[in-house]
Amino acid sequence: MSDLWTTPERQALRESVTRFTEREIVPHLAQWEDEGRLPRELHAAAAKAGILGVAFPEEVGGDGGDTIDSAIVTEAIVQAGGSTGLIASLFTHGIALPHMVAAANADLVDRFVRPTLGGETIGSLGVTEPGGGSDVAGLTTRAVRDGDHFVVNGAKTFITSGVRADFVTTAVRTGGEGYGGISLLVIEKGTPGFEVAGPLRKMGWHCSDTAELSFTDVRVPVENLVGDQDGGFVLVMQQFVNERLGLAVQAYATAQRALDLAARYARERETFGKPLAARQVIRHKLVEMHRRTDAARVVTRDAIERSLAGSTTDPQVILAAVMAKNTAVEAVEWVVSESVQIHGGAGYMRESEIDRHYRDARILGIGGGATEVLTDLASKLLGY
Ligand SMILES: Cc1cc2nc3c(=O)[nH]c(=O)nc-3n(C[C@H](O)[C@H](O)[C@H](O)COP(=O)(O)OP(=O)(O)OC[C@H]3O[C@@H](n4cnc5c(N)ncnc54)[C@H](O)[C@@H]3O)c2cc1C
Repeated sequence: MSDLWTTPERQALRESVTRFTEREIVPHLAQWEDEGRLPRELHAAAAKAGILGVAFPEEVGGDGGDTIDSAIVTEAIVQAGGSTGLIASLFTHGIALPHMVAAANADLVDRFVRPTLGGETIGSLGVTEPGGGSDVAGLTTRAVRDGDHFVVNGAKTFITSGVRADFVTTAVRTGGEGYGGISLLVIEKGTPGFEVAGPLRKMGWHCSDTAELSFTDVRVPVENLVGDQDGGFVLVMQQFVNERLGLAVQAYATAQRALDLAARYARERETFGKPLAARQVIRHKLVEMHRRTDAARVVTRDAIERSLAGSTTDPQVILAAVMAKNTAVEAVEWVVSESVQIHGGAGYMRESEIDRHYRDARILGIGGGATEVLTDLASKLLGY
C-alpha cells in the first residue's frame, strides 16, 4: 500500500475527524436515527471543523484535498462509531455539487456550492425516477425551454437529503430520447409546482432523510442550467466514478468496523465456560472476515489512486471503480452478516451497533449502480 494514505496531513485529518465524530456525532446518532434526519447545525459544525468541504477546491469554498482525503473522512467516521447513513446525508453535496464545479459556472458556484460547503444550505442529486433508476439514459422528467426559463414536469424518488434540501441538482430531458437529450438543472425548494414528500421509511440509513419529488410546470431560470444543454449525461457519468469509489470506501470501512466489533465481542462473551474466541471456528471466521475486508480495502484504495493518476473518463479507471465497488460490497455483505452471527441475539437488538451496520450496508449494492448493472458495464469494458 502506498504511503499516500499516511502522510502527516492525512493522519492529522483522520485524528480530527475521529474527535469530531466522538464529540458531535456518536452521542446523538441514536436520536437522529429515530428522528429520521440530521440537524442542520451538524452541517455548520462540520464546516467549521474543516470536514464538510474535504475534496472540494478552496477556490469554490472547499477545504481542499482529493478522493484519498474524503476516503479518510469516511474511514474515520465509521471507525469512530458513526455510520454510512450519516455520511450519505451529511455529505450529500458530494454528489450534488461536483457537476457545478466541473462546469466552472461562477454564478452557480457562488449561489449553491459555497453556501453548501459552508454548512448553510443543503443540496441533493435527483436522477432516479419512480419508473427506474438503473437506466439513467431512459429518464423521463421533461424540461421545455420557454423564454428565459425551463418548464419542468415529472418526478424523482429515493432522493437522499431531499426532505431537507434547499436545492436539487436534477437530471431532466431537454432533448430527444437516450443519453444525448439529458441536462442538469438546479431546482430550488419553494419554486411553485415543486413538491417534496417524505421522509420515506427505509430498512437502513435511518438518520438520512429520503424524499420523493414531484414537478408540475415548475419554472426554472435558464441560469440554473449546469454545463451545456443536452450535455448532462456526460456530467453525471463522470461523477459516477467518484460516487462508486465513495460507496466502496463506505463498504470496506463498515466491514472493518463490523470485524472489530465482532472480535471484541468474541473475546468478552463466554459460552460453555469459555470465551467465544477460544473456539477455533470463531477465530477462523474472524480471519476470513479480516481477509475479505483487507482485500476490499486494497482493491478500492488502488482504484482511488488510479483515478487520481488518470481521468474519470478513462475506461480503465471506470473499470477499476466498478470492480472496487462490487468487491467491497460483496465483502461487507458477508462480513456484517457474520458479525451479527457472532453477536448472537445481542446482534439482532436495535441498541447494538452491528444491527445498524447490517441494515445500512444493504443499500451499497443497489445505489450508485446496482451490482448487476456494474457487472454488465465491466463486461462491456473488458470486451466479453
Ligand atoms: C436509500 C437510498 C438512497 C438513494 N439516494 C439517491 C439519490 O440521492 N439520488 C438518486 O438519484 N437516486 C438515489 N437512490 C436511487 C438508487 O440510485 C437506485 O435505487 C438505483 O440506481 C437502482 O434503481 P432502481 O431502484 O430504480 O432499480 P431498478 O433500476 O428498477 O433495478 C432493480 C434491480 O434490478 C437489477 N437490474 C437492473 N438493471 C439490470 C440489468 N440491466 N441487468 C441485470 N439486473 C438488473 C438490479 O439488481 C437492481 O437492483 C437512492 C436509493 C436508496 C434506496
